[in-house]
Amino acid sequence: MSDCLFCKISNKEIPAKVEYEDDDLIVIHDINPQAAVHILLIPKRHIDRIDALQDGDAGLMGTLLIRAKDLAQKNGWEDFRLVFNNGAAAGQTVFHIHMHLLTGRPMGWPPG
Ligand code: 5GP
Ligand code: ZN
Repeated sequence: MSDCLFCKISNKEIPAKVEYEDDDLIVIHDINPQAAVHILLIPKRHIDRIDALQDGDAGLMGTLLIRAKDLAQKNGWEDFRLVFNNGAAAGQTVFHIHMHLLTGRPMGWPPG
């Protein structure tokens, strides 16, 4: 999508601090980190939000989780939180699907 922030970051039209990249995903550091480490795992293909997923996206979304685990193991992040915000009332501000990975501080439950 031409006016989508995360499509532009995936296309390198807008710079970001890239932690990992392959054909399907780009992983960047959040511009406004909420923990010592706060990264975003972003499928390159535009999908608005969790609600818009289809059965055919199962492989892609499974890969997202496995890559999060790989990055955590590689970097020694033993305890971490993975978050999807689906919709504005749930905190979604960028309507291109992404998974937050936060680590490096104790975290409360339930989240606010
Ligand atoms: P959401 O609120 O949609 O779940 O998460 C969007 C995240 O994107 C937020 O944590 C926000 O700080 C981050 N973000 C917004 N604009 C940019 C940007 O231009 N660059 C990067 N790296 N992160 C951004
Ligand atoms: Zn997009």
